[in-house]
Amino acid sequence: MNPTANSPWPAGQRCAVSLTYDDAVPVHYQHVAPLLSAKGLTGTFNLTGQASVTEAIEQWRHVAEAGHELGNHTLFHPCRRDPPERYGWLEPHYDLCAYTMQRLADELRVANALLRLIDRRTRRTFAHPCGHATVGPAGREISIDDLVLRLFVAGRGSSTGRLVDPACPNYASLGCVGGDGKTFDSLRESVEQAVECGAWLIFIFHGVGKGTHGGYVETEAHDALVDYLAANADRCWGASMVEVALHLQAQAPAKRPDGPAT
Ligand SMILES: [Zn+2]
Repeated sequence: MNPTANSPWPAGQRCAVSLTYDDAVPVHYQHVAPLLSAKGLTGTFNLTGQASVTEAIEQWRHVAEAGHELGNHTLFHPCRRDPPERYGWLEPHYDLCAYTMQRLADELRVANALLRLIDRRTRRTFAHPCGHATVGPAGREISIDDLVLRLFVAGRGSSTGRLVDPACPNYASLGCVGGDGKTFDSLRESVEQAVECGAWLIFIFHGVGKGTHGGYVETEAHDALVDYLAANADRCWGASMVEVALHLQAQAPAKRPDGPAT
């Protein structure tokens, strides 16, 4: 990555940073989205069909109306139950090893419809539950990359810890950096790496504050990161995943498979 030659970022900025939040945790609409709005940033909130969405439609609509993205995180959060002891919390019925491509496609379409009824938008990104990107039993896994590219602007894949090179993004499965449990210094270090490389940094968070989710970042560390991005807006473009992906795709369209989704 070369930060100076043909920078793809707007207004002389040197990197893009997308803050993404998974699993529809109430603290996202209670604290995070208002904070981002107050600081002039937009984030991506990846929702499922769980009760914290279906029982809080107006709260999430308010988040979308403030300019944030509601991302698709499936309806039922299926993951590969492999090895089973690691995913003991997952209902066997929602094991991606037992899913067909058609079943996942059906679920993603209904999840998109649910989100569209909330935010009235047709373009959004996808977040792979557990970072898993295949269906079918072990040894006969089938990649869902084509499905993601047919249904979404882009997909966020597993937590690779790596930055996205804007010259060659893998839109089916963009790498991301885990933010849960990190200190502000560590989060800031990732931002500075993105500035240095001219890259797109995608952070993945779950809870914000102790007790909000099994995986969480301390509120102080998170809020300090938001302050840092706001204070460095001349260098860092803090925007939702769909905004950054559409910005890059306006310069170089994504390669997408032909034909309708399954
Ligand atoms: Zn999740």
